[in-house]
Amino acid sequence: MRLVFASNNAHKLSEVQAIMPAGVEVLSLKEIGFNSEIEETGSTLSENSYIKAQTVWEFICNKESDLRDQIDGVFADDTGLEIDALGGAPGVYTARWYKKNTDHCVDGIQTAPLTEKDIFAANRAKALRELEGKDNRGCQFKTVITLIRKPIPSLTEGKEFIQVEGIVRGRIAEEEYGQGGFGYDPIFVPEGYDKTFGELPAELKNHISHRARAMQALVNLLNKEA
Ligand code: IMP
Repeated sequence: MRLVFASNNAHKLSEVQAIMPAGVEVLSLKEIGFNSEIEETGSTLSENSYIKAQTVWEFICNKESDLRDQIDGVFADDTGLEIDALGGAPGVYTARWYKKNTDHCVDGIQTAPLTEKDIFAANRAKALRELEGKDNRGCQFKTVITLIRKPIPSLTEGKEFIQVEGIVRGRIAEEEYGQGGFGYDPIFVPEGYDKTFGELPAELKNHISHRARAMQALVNLLNKEA
């Protein structure tokens, strides 16, 4: 089976490639010639995950080449960090939380467009600031994955897509630890551990993370029909 993963994030791509069983080939957007940015205009993780998968699926179906015949489907993930003490924020705004309600603005200072690494750092700084002095540092990562593909009636009940979810509970550390992973990893300590995802081995993250759990749910569904 050949599935396209609808993300430009190289970290995520290597995580999902590591999790998918042999027999499922995961192609990147680059490999199918999809070079556009996808706007995440939804108001929930489910909607954004669907928008990403649907945009790429349409691209594949509209292509004049025989791409449509070579690819079985597209899946996309959307992830939110939900912090208990902040009523579940930033949630759907996780990617660009540092500049919510502002434009290219960090700490009130107007900036040039930031690199991905700078955005990750600004988001982490915001999380640490928001929780300064707070004892309740509980939070969770939630991932919703949407798979769109050639209809398989027994699985999709006539629908064109399926959605699965994965959650990992944890807490926000007092400061940054570790260089591994991406995004909020250096400040996220998963439940049952005393190190951040930035410090823990990638193989462990790939077992217990929100994305790993959502991927496992997806793989279980795919195995059902095998
Ligand atoms: P996305 O919309 O699924 O790309 O995720 C939104 C944001 O969540 C990303 O830009 C990252 O800041 C953060 N994020 C997603 N997955 C992870 C992860 O596995 N570790 C840390 N941060 C993540």
